[in-house]
Amino acid sequence: MKKTVYTKAGQVGLIEVEHPQIIEADDAIIRIVRTCVCGSDLWSYRNPDIEAGHQNSGHEAIGIVEAIGDAVTTVKPGDFVIAPFTHGCGECDACRAGYDGTCDHHIGTNWSDGVQAEYMRFEYANWALVKIPGQPSDYTEAMLKSFLTLADVMPTGYHAARVANVQKGDKVVVIGDGAVGQCAVIAAKMRGASQIVLMSRHEDRQKMALESGATAVVAERGEEGIAKVREILGGGADAALECVGTEAAIDQALGVLHNGGRLGFVGVPHYSNRALGSTFAQNLTIAGGAASVTTYDKQFLLKAVLDGDINPGRVFTSSYKLEDIDQAYKDMDERKTIKAMIVID
Ligand SMILES: [Zn+2]
Ligand SMILES: [Zn+2]
Repeated sequence: MKKTVYTKAGQVGLIEVEHPQIIEADDAIIRIVRTCVCGSDLWSYRNPDIEAGHQNSGHEAIGIVEAIGDAVTTVKPGDFVIAPFTHGCGECDACRAGYDGTCDHHIGTNWSDGVQAEYMRFEYANWALVKIPGQPSDYTEAMLKSFLTLADVMPTGYHAARVANVQKGDKVVVIGDGAVGQCAVIAAKMRGASQIVLMSRHEDRQKMALESGATAVVAERGEEGIAKVREILGGGADAALECVGTEAAIDQALGVLHNGGRLGFVGVPHYSNRALGSTFAQNLTIAGGAASVTTYDKQFLLKAVLDGDINPGRVFTSSYKLEDIDQAYKDMDERKTIKAMIVID
């Protein structure tokens, strides 16, 4: 089967590898129907030290179960599933508290990679996989796109809003206008925020967010951006949702909050840790980490997509064949597309 590898900084390619096999009793083999490139994959793609042949970090897919291990009882071959990027057990304290993105039992093995390929081996399948009713042919392409967001970006955007405890009537600022930021806007609206301001300099992304429930957009950055947000909100925000992972984004988030405000961060951090005491004078609540993908999908996000209440699939602004995976990375890297989908069959 074909699988994507990093070949050098700024380039990926396909290699032929063996078809994956069931190894553990809780494994499933999935024939991938749609996968995609994540903003987080671009960190490896741009890395000048990347080794040729390094496995792709792709971790979002929907597909058809091809084989299951003996311990898997929740899905069977032929089922259509979301393959979350997380692999919670559903039983440990973290999973039961709704934090399966950081399952206590699967430390170090809780995230997928290598799924920009024709097939994947999905570990800890029994609890973590999310079954979609019917088959891919029962749905429109728009619906398949929304299902694919349920493997990562929609639950991740939702996680920012959840850990920041966004509530009805809240004033919310979203930092990051990529796929996760767009989904955070949708999530803030689902949770009843009264004002949602997106920080964005790109017209197409501003437009998408305004259609999804953002009430204002701010193009300015830094101190100027913070001042503009405060002017729009008539003061500081109740919650800031940081969906980028840079220090500048964290500074922006901390700057827009009123004292006592709440920061939810889901951008994979690419900055050195700040001292915990640095926010003492602001009385801030700070929380963040990997999303609880399976929990949110099973509890409400899959239903919200099936009912047509949310349409997160709009973040996929272009589609490619697996053979064109390098172009998919390039277009995301050059911001020609918000998120690139790979159509496998
Ligand atoms: Zn991702
Ligand atoms: Zn667990």
